[in-house]
Amino acid sequence: MLKKQLFCRLFISGFILSIMTLQVQSSPEPVKIPEPINSPEPINSLEPIKSPESEFESAPKDNQGRFTNHGGEISHGSLSVRLKFYLRRFGTLFRSDAGAPKRVANQADFLRDNRTTATVTWIGHATLLVQMEGLNFLTDPIWSKTPSPLPPVGPSRWVDPGMTIDELPEIDFVVISHNHFDHLDLPTLRKLAARNSDTIFFVPLGNADLLIKKGITQVQELGWGETANFKNIQIHCLPTQHWSKRKLSDTRKSLWASWAVIGTERRFYFAGDTGYFEGFKQIGAKLGPFDLAAVPIGAYEPRAMMAETHMNPEEAVQAALDVQAETAVAIHFGTFDLSDEPLAEPPVRFKAAAKKTGLGLDNSWVLDIGETREF
Ligand SMILES: [Zn+2]
Repeated sequence: MLKKQLFCRLFISGFILSIMTLQVQSSPEPVKIPEPINSPEPINSLEPIKSPESEFESAPKDNQGRFTNHGGEISHGSLSVRLKFYLRRFGTLFRSDAGAPKRVANQADFLRDNRTTATVTWIGHATLLVQMEGLNFLTDPIWSKTPSPLPPVGPSRWVDPGMTIDELPEIDFVVISHNHFDHLDLPTLRKLAARNSDTIFFVPLGNADLLIKKGITQVQELGWGETANFKNIQIHCLPTQHWSKRKLSDTRKSLWASWAVIGTERRFYFAGDTGYFEGFKQIGAKLGPFDLAAVPIGAYEPRAMMAETHMNPEEAVQAALDVQAETAVAIHFGTFDLSDEPLAEPPVRFKAAAKKTGLGLDNSWVLDIGETREF
């Protein structure tokens, strides 16, 4: 019985991995990209504006009408590299959790009342709870155990989230980097929207419809270079080097992005999920310096497949320097089993690389899951 279940899980895992990560052949006919969909109840006060001091080129599209990166189409490695990777993934069901991040008691009581001190809390993966300028927001929130179209089949979660959704303070807004399942988790977004109907969800172009279909109406779409004024802060949608896909037919139909959240007292940058690219320097020059930058440091092996879409720890340090971050906090590692590198490796390499730069050990943060720091 157990063997049969295991076989089914392996088989379905393989199938899902194949559809999720194999590039679909481009169709000869141009793909019609739907116009960005606005929330049925438009959030008028948040109409995106192009702010002159942050002029960034909007995202290009390829000759199929799909979003692409400024450097053109990115590589996901040869078919043989990818097939070998998927085969290795079958073995991950037996991988040990040795080297996974530690989970510590959270400071939920303090965070619920706090509207004065700037803090960051690592919930796990790319999910941070950030408090600044009297506002509370989440980045790429995922509380699900398995980021997958068919849970529980998919990558395992090594460590439970650092806080429960019920323990969170009131959330003013959420920023989402792109539609991959480990970053855009609909069950979590529905819970957050149900918990507080005022929470606003900021998404890159082409992603609002996904949320609206699930009954989440407070959605604001932005393109690269667009800014929303929200209460006392500015929220900037900015480039990254990545891609999007949730099913066979939607490759790069919706945009991917990083986000800057800028107030009068604190400036925060969330890099999302990205390969290293020259755009970081432009972000730093136009919107830096940042008090804190969250940079992804995991899911970088095999390089032949990941190099253009996921930074390694050394590149993450360089990205933090490029955006002119005073402090870098590591995200996107140790939470889900996504790639080949040893579980314990990303934070070790991140600290070693930062030590050689102006960030040093003090300003390159590797948090425990559930840990809060002031910034
Ligand atoms: Zn991704």
